[in-house]
Formats: sequence, structure tokens, C-alpha cells
Amino acid sequence: MTALHDAPGVLADIPLAIDPDEVLRFQGYKRGGAAPGPEVRALFDEALALGRRLMAPRAVVRWVPVTRETADALEAGGVTLTIPGIRAHWGPVEHVVAGVCTVGDAIARRAAELWEARELPLASMLDSVGSGAVESLAEHVNDRLCQEGLARGFSVTNRISPGYARWELDEQRYLFALCPGDAIGVRLNAACVMTPTKSISLLVGAGPEARVDHYFSQCARCWMRDCAYRRAPARGTVHR
Ligand code: SF4
Repeated sequence: MTALHDAPGVLADIPLAIDPDEVLRFQGYKRGGAAPGPEVRALFDEALALGRRLMAPRAVVRWVPVTRETADALEAGGVTLTIPGIRAHWGPVEHVVAGVCTVGDAIARRAAELWEARELPLASMLDSVGSGAVESLAEHVNDRLCQEGLARGFSVTNRISPGYARWELDEQRYLFALCPGDAIGVRLNAACVMTPTKSISLLVGAGPEARVDHYFSQCARCWMRDCAYRRAPARGTVHR
């Protein structure tokens, strides 16, 4: 059984995995909608190959016991996270796990150079590759935490992030107080925006009675192929 990261711990063996559908979603293609034509596919392949050379996925997480829980807030590690409706959303949680992940800054720098050189389609596609890759990475971290929690009898919720739904962006500073991004080279500026830009911060809740998606749908899209707790086979190919 692996140890819980009760101090910020950098995750080992992080794969660089990219869901093509996720990348194309950033290009405006909806799942089940019109498929991209051959020119877009060729551009996608070029950007993907370039992105793979440039990206370095890294993640750091920290498990923190929850000391107080109210309808709209969680206290953990000496900070108060104000998250409207969190108790109704997550149910009772005994721990939170704060995490930060990134694919590094080389891809954004190369995309900026391509914009400068007016190679706009490739610049845009490369930017989408970076966005898709960091989303896939955050999903991977969420799935690893699910597996880690289940080994201890905890259900683990889906991730949330400051700046989304009703959780204010400036709460990012509290998330970073729990789990600084320094170990993986991610910093916050005064406006609570992360650099490198292709980074995602996340928070999940964990506990025996935490509310989670139905595991049959969660496992069906999860890429932990050999998970001992899997309740349903992965649906089709697990892209990431
Ligand atoms: S296969 Fe299911 S139980 Fe295992 S980590 Fe994935 S979502 Fe969690």
C-alpha cells in the first residue's frame, strides 16, 4: 500500500497522455459532432508530435485531514476553503487532497513563437494540445487519488478548481497554502493565475461516505486499467 502524501509529494511515473477528443474540443469540435477534415487532422498530428517533444507532465498532491465542515466551507491544514454548497455536493469528507499539475512552459513558449511567426493554425492547435494534455493529466491525478483512497476505504470525489462553478478564483492562494506548486515549478501571481499557463490546480474530498459519481460510469471512463477496485470495464479505448 502506498503512503498517503500528508506532506506535498510529487507523483512519480506520470504518463504524458492526450485524449485527441479533448484537444479537438478546444478547437471547437464537439463529441459526436462533425469530424474534422483531413487538413485539420494533419495539423493535429503535427501539433501532437511537436507537443509530445515539448511537454513534461508533473504533479504534486497533499492529503490533509478536514478539521471542520460547514454547508459552504471546509477547514483543513489551518486554512478555510469557502466553497458554496460543498457539503451538499460532496457529503461528509474526512480529508481533502489538494494538488497541482502542469505540462511545463515549453509548449506555451513555442506556441507564442509560432504566433509571432504568423503560423496561426499550428500555433492554435499546439495551444489546444497543451490544454488537452493538462486536462488529461488532471483526470489521471484524480483517478490515482481514487485508487489511493479506495485502498483505505475512502471514496474520492471528482475534482474541483478555484475559479470554476461557484468557487472564487482568489481561493487559489489557500489551495496553494495547502499544496504549493514550487516542487513542480508552478507559481501563482498576484492575480491568482498560475504559470506555466498549462497548469491545473485541483481539490478532491475523501471519506467513507463522500459522494461520488456512480462507479460504473466513473470506472468506464477511468484509465487505471489494472485498478483492483474497478467496477466496470473501460468503455472502448481509454484514450489517455
Ligand atoms: S477504475 Fe474505478 S475504482 Fe479504480 S481508480 Fe478508476 S474510477 Fe476509481
